[in-house]
Amino acid sequence: MIQYIETKSILSKLREKDTWFGIAYNMNLYRGCQHGCIYCDTRSECYGINDISTISVKKNALDLLAKELPAKRKNRATIGTGSMNDPYMPVEKELQLTRKALQIIASEKFPAHIITKSNLVKRDADILQDISKTYAAVSFTITAADDSLSQ
Ligand code: SF4
Repeated sequence: MIQYIETKSILSKLREKDTWFGIAYNMNLYRGCQHGCIYCDTRSECYGINDISTISVKKNALDLLAKELPAKRKNRATIGTGSMNDPYMPVEKELQLTRKALQIIASEKFPAHIITKSNLVKRDADILQDISKTYAAVSFTITAADDSLSQ
């Protein structure tokens, strides 16, 4: 199921800079994730997402991002997306919310780090190239059912 919601803000500052990916701000354009991985941390009760398969599209996300980024210019730091849902889950193909958010990020010259399991990210290579003048990274999770292969 896909539903549309409004949110109050789109960037949340991490209490401490993430030392693994260097992320300082989290951006979640969606709630829920169509990949529905059984081991997903998003399923933890603390996040209050009852049904990970219900996808909430934050319909005012782009307007908020365009407003919030200029206020953070003095503290330019890496924006991460992909920890609570995959920004390139199937619905993104049509909605292009992530693509449009990256265009705003590029125009504001903020660095970005994307975590995904989808090759749809290739669609946005042109914008990522632009962001990479500041800094851009894409991390992939590759899962395997075979434990020895995973190792
Ligand atoms: S792709 Fe990531 S965010 Fe989505 S369900 Fe799997 S682990 Fe969770």
